[in-house]
Order: sequence, then structure tokens, then C-alpha cells
Amino acid sequence: MTKPKIVILGAGYGGIITSKSLEKLLKSGEADVTLINKHDYHYLTTQLHKTGVGTAADRQIAMSIPELINPAKTRFLKAAVSSVDIHSQGVHLEGGETVTYDYLLIALGFEVETFGIPGVKENAFKIRSFRSTKIIYHQIVKQFNLYKQDYDPSRLTFVVAGGGFTGIEMLGELADGLPKLCKEHDIPFEKIRIIGIEAAPSVIPFFPKQSIEYTQEVLEKRNIEVITATKILECTPEKVLLENNLEIPTRTLIWSCGVKGNTIVHKWGLPIEKGKIPVDSYLRVKNSKNIFSIGDCSLFMKDEKNALPPTAQVALQQAPVCAKNIVASIRGESLKTFEYHHKGSVASIGLMAAVGKVGNFRLSGMFGAFMKQVIEARYLFNLGGPSLIIKQHFGVSREQV
Ligand code: FAD
Ligand code: NAD
Repeated sequence: MTKPKIVILGAGYGGIITSKSLEKLLKSGEADVTLINKHDYHYLTTQLHKTGVGTAADRQIAMSIPELINPAKTRFLKAAVSSVDIHSQGVHLEGGETVTYDYLLIALGFEVETFGIPGVKENAFKIRSFRSTKIIYHQIVKQFNLYKQDYDPSRLTFVVAGGGFTGIEMLGELADGLPKLCKEHDIPFEKIRIIGIEAAPSVIPFFPKQSIEYTQEVLEKRNIEVITATKILECTPEKVLLENNLEIPTRTLIWSCGVKGNTIVHKWGLPIEKGKIPVDSYLRVKNSKNIFSIGDCSLFMKDEKNALPPTAQVALQQAPVCAKNIVASIRGESLKTFEYHHKGSVASIGLMAAVGKVGNFRLSGMFGAFMKQVIEARYLFNLGGPSLIIKQHFGVSREQV
């Protein structure tokens, strides 16, 4: 009998943890597992704001996928998926190759939502991937160098769009990282402006009042200008246009106004709801027995009206259940219902402050920042054990540990 073929698309949080779980669950020779990702590294999306400002080394954010998986159990293919043919059960890759599957997991993550606002797609800088945030870092350095030629203050004005978690993490990181970058490039830090713009009446509008006040206080203390209750209407290479005829001359608008599911899946003949792939309680794509989807590209309804949010926490809880259900499907066993347990949320505002909520307990300040580090370290531990934590923090190769 031929071995069933499991194909996983995407090695973000959902995809990589599912493949690691399958390595543990499958018996030797029980199935062939292929993991496909467009880069040969897995990156920590939750830390991408650091790459954008250069406050973390590349090795702390991006790690080699072949080093994270067991090559005897998982075949890794570095390739961009172009489409899936659900009738012939084939995954088409850019470059022409087709990989066939018996069981498919789609974990292709998110895309940045720009709401069709003029100029944003073309001119704003996105916090989407390791590569896109490296571009932000290079943009900052480029503007520093050009400022030394023309002294145009718009080159030293950095605007962050959106005051959700991504926005405040980016603002905090800019406040942390720019002083050092200015020193390195001989730029007077007092000439720097960091501005946050939020359409809602406050930053993190979905959080309790005290947390909002604390966040606003921290941002103010760090000389970050925050403009609330004001929508961004347009972005050009030289300025940002806001409601009430306001405009800010800047060369760098960093866009963090929300995300949507990866739209690449829309043309594959799969059901699509709210721009995502709807899944049942077993994480199987609706009306399908052999296609699963988890993480930001999927839609899991926690009740009749509300879907689970696009967070790493959700993807990481779905991954081991998805792996169990793929194995159960192969073995003809009964599948496990996915249940989400919210463990809380913590967002950093630079290295020394954070804001969050765990149960009814509000987190802030240094303790919040410490908890954020613990959450990140726990993920690395689950992914690659203590040796990965040492490698990430000290730059030691895993073989040396
Ligand atoms: P992703 O992590 O987006 O992974 C998708 C993978 O698919 C990527 O490796 C990508 O390269 C690959 N891929 C995409 N298209 C293709 C293709 N065509 N072919 C091949 N491969 C492809 N959530 C939290 O719970 N806690 C946090 O603290 C937190 N912090 C965040 C901070 C920032 C700055 C951002 C932007 C998000 C944060 N989130 C956080 C949200 C979290 O990062 C996402 O929910 C999470 O990354 C989703 O995981 P995923 O596996 O679904 O997708
Ligand atoms: P979000 O949707 O949570 O926040 C986007 C913000 O942008 C909103 O406050 C919105 O009012 C604002 N906005 C939208 N359009 C605007 C406009 N034209 N002008 C000005 N403001 C505008 O999106 P996000 O912050 O990118 O987060 C995406 C997902 O990732 C969320 O699920 C979030 O919880 C998760 N995340 C979690 C963490 C964490 O837990 N530490 C960190 C980052 C992101």
C-alpha cells in the first residue's frame, strides 16, 4: 500500500508547529510529510517590529527551517505556492513543479489590510515579513544619509499608522532604537519626530481604560506624538494626509492598521467567508475531509457571531490539534474538537514597558515587559528546546550547545 502524503503549506507558527507535532505522532513509515515555505527560514512575526528598527539581530528573529525540523521525518521544500488544484489534489509551485497530496494543511498566514486607501500599497512600509521589516530598517538608514545632504526634516519624521498592538509595539521600538541609530549615523536625535496616528478615540481602543491611560502615558513620556480620532486618508512618497485637512510631511509611513487572510487562497475553489477559509470544529475546511486550515488564513467561529482573532496564540493552539486530526484521519480514528483557551495578551512598548491582560489581571510596566519575554522564550523552547534559546540569544550554533 502507498504511504499517504501530507503536505503543509506555510512554515509560520501554525505550519511549523504542526510539522513538529506530526514528527512526534506519526509512526515510522506511516506517512510522507512535506513542508513548503517560500523562504528557508521561519521568522518570529511577533518580533518583527524589532527587525524594523534593528533592535534585534537577524538570528534572533529568523531561523533556518532545515535546522528546526527532523529531515528524516519531514521533507522541506523552499518554494512559493502559486495554486492548489483540489480536484487532482496537487499543489502547484512557482517554477512549475507540482506536489500531490492526500492530506493538505493550508497555513499561509496573513496579508496587510490597506482598505484601498490611496497610496498606501505603493508608498507605506509594511510589517508583514522578515523581509518587509528589513526594508523598514534600510529606509530609516537611507533617510538618515539623505538628511545629511538636504537637511529636510521630513526625512527624520517617522509615522506609524494604527494604534492597535502592532502600532504601539512599533512606536515603542522606534523610541528604543532610534537614539542608538542616530548616534551611529551622526544624526541629532532631538530632530527626530515619532508620530502615531489612530482612527479610534484612543490607542488600543479594545483594552480597559486603565491600560489605555497607561499606554498613552508611556508613549508621551517617550516623546512620541499621538494623534487619535483621526483617519489616514492618503499617503504619498513625501507626506501623509489625514482627516480635518491635516498633513504630515514624512518619507516613512509604517502601516499597521490591521490584517486580513492571505488572499492567494481565494482562487482555489475553496469556500471563502470574510476573506478566509472557514473550518469546522476539527479544523477541516468546510465540506472537505482531507484539507485542513489553521492560523490567520482560516476562519474558526468560536460562536455563531464571533471568529477567533488572527493571533499567534490561536495558530499555536490549533497546530497540535490539527496534527492529531490529520493522523486520526489517516488511521480512521475519531477526530478531536478544537477548543480555544485564551491565555491573555501582552504587547511591548519598547524593551522596558508592556501592557497586557491575563484573565482579570492587568499587566503593565517592567513586569509586563518581563512576561512578554517569558512568552517569547517559551515559544522558542517548544520549537527547539533550550539549545534554540541559547542560540537565539548568544549566537552559538546548536551543534556547539
Ligand atoms: P504566518 O506566521 O503569517 O506564517 C505564514 C507562512 O506562510 C510564512 O512563513 C510565509 O512566508 C508563508 N507563505 C505565505 N505565502 C506563501 C506562499 N505563497 N508560498 C509559500 N509560503 C508562503 N500574535 C500573538 O498571539 N501574540 C503576539 O505577541 C503577536 N505579536 C505580533 C506582532 C506583530 C508585529 C505582528 C505583525 C503580529 C503579531 N501577532 C501576535 C499576530 C501573529 O504574528 C499572527 O497571528 C501569526 O503570525 C499567524 O501565524 P500563521 O502561522 O497563521 O501565519
Ligand atoms: P488591529 O486591527 O488590532 O489594529 C489596527 C488599528 O488601526 C485599529 O486600532 C484601527 O482603528 C486603526 N486604523 C485602521 N484604519 C486606520 C486609518 N485609516 N487611519 C488610522 N488608524 C486606522 O491590527 P494590528 O495591530 O495590526 O494587529 C493585527 C493582529 O495581530 C491582531 O489580532 C492583534 O491582536 C495581533 N497582534 C497581537 C500582538 C500581541 O499580542 N502582543 C501584537 C501585535 C499584533
